[in-house]
Amino acid sequence: MPETLQRNLITGGAGFVGSHLVDRLMEAGEEVICLDNYFTGRKANIAQWIGHPRFELLRHDVTEPIRLEVDRIWHLACPASPVHYQHNPIKTAKTSFLGTYNMLGLARRVGARLLLASTSEVYGDPEVHPQPESYRGCVNTIGPRSCYDEGKRVAETLCFDYHRMHGTEIRVARIFNTYGPRMLPDDGRVVSNFIVQALRGEPLTLYGDGSQTRSFCFVDDLVEGLIRLMNGSSTGPINLGNPGEFTIRQLAEQVRDGINPALELICLPLPQDDPLQRQPAIDLARRELGWEPSVSLEQGLEPTIAFFRASLPIPTP
Ligand code: NAD
Ligand code: UDP
Repeated sequence: MPETLQRNLITGGAGFVGSHLVDRLMEAGEEVICLDNYFTGRKANIAQWIGHPRFELLRHDVTEPIRLEVDRIWHLACPASPVHYQHNPIKTAKTSFLGTYNMLGLARRVGARLLLASTSEVYGDPEVHPQPESYRGCVNTIGPRSCYDEGKRVAETLCFDYHRMHGTEIRVARIFNTYGPRMLPDDGRVVSNFIVQALRGEPLTLYGDGSQTRSFCFVDDLVEGLIRLMNGSSTGPINLGNPGEFTIRQLAEQVRDGINPALELICLPLPQDDPLQRQPAIDLARRELGWEPSVSLEQGLEPTIAFFRASLPIPTP
């Protein structure tokens, strides 16, 4: 047991990022309460810990208040893929606003520190490139992505108002596109889509001409950044992402060539408000947290592809 045993609440702990965080904290000997409503999370992601004396699993929706005794709240609950967060946009906005409000209320009551999983989407379709934390963003308030983008923006605002009004200890991470094992095969995000399509022998679907860019961070690197942020003294907001920037076409070619170079790339319409470019400036994370990603896209794709290969039904030729 570590000397300072922490009681951790991880909202969204059964999801993609949350479950990797559960693993890290459990392996470090801490206590973990995993809270999830299973909208996009799966029990299979945390099944390895069920029954462990330091682990508890709660089915709960963060839009409802809850009372618990904890030291740290890792607030990740919120669907992250556009397909999922646009499924019920009003619920997404409620999850972001009410969920963060409820978790901050809990943090204030029990004196816990709260880390918010915010997003690069607060920068919208950015006119500044790469995006530093000081950039205030270019966000459509009424488009199909707004429930998520604006939801996270108001969640950040709530964090800073609780901090200023009540002295609540807060940490705000602006997470850029993250990938790795345990992404859902049907969540519509680009890395999982391309890998699943390639493994099934289907054409890879480029939205638009594939010239838009993203910067992809492997999940282990992100989790290390979240832990450093929570343990450190900076409130943030702090960008956590991999500055390696790729066009979506480059990503498609890399995935295809690693699985089946004969596959076709096809172009489909670009979704409304799809940001044209995105790359984190991570000077602040380097300086404040001594953090930078260590896993390249090529290295990170390998275990991700292996995960999908092992978990998908793949047609035999
Ligand atoms: P995910 O969809 O895999 O995980 C979200 C989890 O939250 C799921 O387990 C889901 O069931 C749960 N959840 C959703 N609504 C809930 C509610 N109302 N009450 C309780 N639980 C609820 O997504 P992820 O990729 O693991 O993202 C985790 C967090 O990180 C999210 O807050 C997301 O906005 C943020 N983030 C992720 C990325 C990324 O690229 N993965 C990028 C930026 C920000
Ligand atoms: N995208 C794509 N093909 C797909 C899925 C996504 O070309 O099958 C594009 C999408 O239009 C966007 C980028 O890939 O430009 C990243 O999409 P994702 O949904 O993963 O993340 P976000 O748009 O939220 O950054």
